[in-house]
Amino acid sequence: MVRDSRIALSFVFGLVGGLLILTTVLLFLPSLFSPYYGYPGPFAYGLIGITMGIASGVLVIVGATMSFRRPSQGVTWGIVTVVFGALSLFGFGGFGVGMALAVTGGALAIVSGASGPVPGQGGQRACTSCGMLIAMEFAHCPHCGHTMAPILR
Ligand SMILES: [Zn+2]
Repeated sequence: MVRDSRIALSFVFGLVGGLLILTTVLLFLPSLFSPYYGYPGPFAYGLIGITMGIASGVLVIVGATMSFRRPSQGVTWGIVTVVFGALSLFGFGGFGVGMALAVTGGALAIVSGASGPVPGQGGQRACTSCGMLIAMEFAHCPHCGHTMAPILR
């Protein structure tokens, strides 16, 4: 199942990326309280950078988790993961590694979310009479006219 492994990979990438982004923010947290510790990096604007880092790290993890748990919404949550992974650039971006992982994971979630329906979630099922694949919603098989069992949701 190529699709399943992509979803799992996207989840791992997003999770690790989000955690890296959050960890990096924690490393720079003391800079808020030290007057001698300059803010490193061109995009690290003190409180704004740390706020952006925490927000994007959390939302990358949420996006990765949701696209994993709801593969049918993989495109939506994949976009969330990519957008906030990119925004983590303004919050140190997990030294770039977390950002790259989050964007890659989100892109994978979008690809798998767009690559077809998940079985049992608005997908297809086999006709119990003639064996042809038909849409879940059909009450009767268009090939043989067999009455399909009602869908239990
Ligand atoms: Zn049939």
